[in-house]
Amino acid sequence: MEQASKTITGIGVSPGIAIGKAYLLERGRIPIPYYTLLGAEAVSDEVKRFEDAVNKAEQDLELLKAKVHPDLKEHANVLEVHQMILRDHLLYDETLRLIQTDKLNAHWALIRALMKAQEVFSTVEDEYIQSRVADVHAVGERILRNLSGKEHDALNAIKERVIIVAHDLSPADAAQLQLERTLGLVTDMGGRTSHTSIIARSLGIPAVVGAEVASKQVQMGDIVIVDGTSGNIIINPSEEEISYYYERQDQLETYLKEIRRKSHLPARTEDGFLIKVEANIELLEEVVAVKDNGAEGIGLYRTEFFFMNRTDLPDEEALYNEYRELSELMAPHQVTIRTLDLGAEKLTSWFPKLEETNPALGLRSIRLCLQYRDLFETQIRAILRASAVARNFKLMFPLVSGIGELHEVLGMVRKVQEQLRRQRIPFDDRMPLGVMIEVPSAVAVADLLAKEVDFFSIGTNDLIQYSLAIDRVNEHVAYLYEPLHPGVLRFIKQAVDAGHKAKIPVSICGEMAGEPLYVPILLGLNLDSLSMNPQAVPRVKNLICRSRLKSCRRFVKKILGFRTAREINELLQEMMLKNFPEEFRVFDPSDLIPKGVAHIRRR
Ligand code: PEP
Ligand code: MG
Repeated sequence: MEQASKTITGIGVSPGIAIGKAYLLERGRIPIPYYTLLGAEAVSDEVKRFEDAVNKAEQDLELLKAKVHPDLKEHANVLEVHQMILRDHLLYDETLRLIQTDKLNAHWALIRALMKAQEVFSTVEDEYIQSRVADVHAVGERILRNLSGKEHDALNAIKERVIIVAHDLSPADAAQLQLERTLGLVTDMGGRTSHTSIIARSLGIPAVVGAEVASKQVQMGDIVIVDGTSGNIIINPSEEEISYYYERQDQLETYLKEIRRKSHLPARTEDGFLIKVEANIELLEEVVAVKDNGAEGIGLYRTEFFFMNRTDLPDEEALYNEYRELSELMAPHQVTIRTLDLGAEKLTSWFPKLEETNPALGLRSIRLCLQYRDLFETQIRAILRASAVARNFKLMFPLVSGIGELHEVLGMVRKVQEQLRRQRIPFDDRMPLGVMIEVPSAVAVADLLAKEVDFFSIGTNDLIQYSLAIDRVNEHVAYLYEPLHPGVLRFIKQAVDAGHKAKIPVSICGEMAGEPLYVPILLGLNLDSLSMNPQAVPRVKNLICRSRLKSCRRFVKKILGFRTAREINELLQEMMLKNFPEEFRVFDPSDLIPKGVAHIRRR
């Protein structure tokens, strides 16, 4: 009798459908012998066994670094971090001490050292440090496997094309993914912007993360379907399900191939209006995806990620090099750099965690920069210096709440420009300066802000959070996170109108911009450009090219008279299915209802 299939749902982070055998990456199931050592000779033998295991781990990591996929070179530094952890005193010295003084066998000593390290880490309430615990464990496991003579590079052991299912995939694991053998990827943990998701997207591997129970439900060798768009994972599908998904896979691939080809052309509406479509990135590795998908520039570079993925505070030179490289990679296209947006849920190891009851309303973003002026000045100097390279930078400031704050920020930029002039260091003195509109008070005074900057970029992720008073990372109120709330739409309209009245361009860079469903509304609200995750570009461009701006304006005029998000949503879906049936035929019709928009920026 055929086994019933089972569907679980996570967050679809890399579009596409994968059908194949599951390869369960099991971690930490190494048999651990426990015994005490008798006599000095046994102790020195055990010390040697431990040192051999560490040396082998070091060599293996070196070999792995050499094999990292060329697109993922940046991620090889995780392997370097692992090499450093191998010799860290918490792990290495402590294990040796336990072997020599407490006469524990190497396995036992190492397990004890790992437990102690975990204790030390757990007292630090820093998300980044916490995330390092996973690295310490990965390194410990590597040594344990060597001590047991076990194959530890399970990813390297894969000999056929499989769907990888894991509880979590560390960046080190993800950097070793063999593209030609990885059909799809599923993890229990992770969010849209976790390293694993970013890597899956840049390699074009269909992926679902945050599936919570996947690694418990899936058995090695099970047939699995992964839908990287809807986030569905079907375990042991029926014959009908398999053929249905093969057909969808075919349609999807044909469709995406076609729209990707066209996405290298400008997005011009049927009635002749050009809309600029750009991409959001967090790391330089994503530039490849930006170009492959036909984005016309970078509308949002979230600079804080470069500060987050490291143990130290980068200095001006490190920042300058990073920004210069980005400028060169993207030239002649424009790059909109956003100054540091740290704080709230975006934390680093080198910045003390603030005890705040309401971090989203706390010392974050531009407020934090204005309190830590050295940090901010260093970043502005690096950006200004890099702006001279190809003169393709625009600079914008997040979470500005009003004119006073804007004046402080602009004052600092002027001060750094003066310093550079005095030092005869070149910079682009015509680099456009803009503000993000993401605080309701900024909408209210948008007319005043517009007179002092060169552009607006609307950050709907935060604008929705603050205007509807919904914590964007709190699943209990996620149902209230409504991008189509009349209040939100009116705010967007008000910001666009104020910008246009002052003759400055207005773009949108929140997740709303990458949702195909919202395209007609954003066009009808008269946005000049849309910036989104790179994979969303082809679908959005395709919809723009098949829309008439004038009809979108009429549509928006009509829905602005509606009273609830629900009414707007209903009419919008009806209109989209009528006007673009083939666009939505290849995707599951339920994709029309954007899922988890509230969670998308969970980090
Ligand atoms: C936004 O708030 O919409 C935005 C683009 O910024 P972030 O998601 O990084 O807060
Ligand atoms: Mg924001």
